[in-house]
Amino acid sequence: NYRARSAFKLLELQERLSLLRAGATVLECGASPGAWTQVAVQHCNPEDSPTYKSSSPTGCVVAVDLQPVSPVPGATFVCGDFTSPDTQQRVLQLLPKGVDVVLSDMAPSATGIKEHDHTRIMRLAVCAAHFAVRHATPHSCFLCKVWAGGEVDKFLRQLSLLYEDARLVKPPSSRSNSAELFVYARGLKSSNNNAAN
Ligand code: SAM
Repeated sequence: NYRARSAFKLLELQERLSLLRAGATVLECGASPGAWTQVAVQHCNPEDSPTYKSSSPTGCVVAVDLQPVSPVPGATFVCGDFTSPDTQQRVLQLLPKGVDVVLSDMAPSATGIKEHDHTRIMRLAVCAAHFAVRHATPHSCFLCKVWAGGEVDKFLRQLSLLYEDARLVKPPSSRSNSAELFVYARGLKSSNNNAAN
């Protein structure tokens, strides 16, 4: 049982993109109420997860949100604003070897003013991407929710310079009339990051 229907979006994206695998270190931004965290734990095999298999590589899942999340066994939760350096420092302490997969489902509470909401979600997206580029391992991947609007193309162009492949994806369970889109990038070009040093 998943805590929210959003789990199905990540499962569909996983089916299509194979983002998550046993042994991967995952950072999940915007985790409350924890449905994506449940999916990440199922696929990455962290110790302490109820389905942990010692015969498979051991992964790690770190989840961050402004709001508290009731525990998901196998995941470590950090409560804080991901745009704040203090929160990022706490996250980095849990990820000393860098991160293989950065997921962001972060979204501001929507005001209904399209341009304004777009600008606010893009600020969160840029923050997640910036962290990924600096701290992800080479060949890592990045998946981030955005709302359609004028800044998406520029964001995609910037990611294309940093990753071998960057594109937009829309999972079938995301309503076709919603503004929601996912930006996916994979194959971080190694000269851009310092996680491997
Ligand atoms: N992925 C979650 C799940 O499947 O259960 C749903 C996430 S919900 C759509 C978006 C979340 O982003 C909210 O819980 C919100 O608190 C969080 N959020 C928004 N701004 C944030 C920020 N600056 N730092 C951390 N989390 C943030």
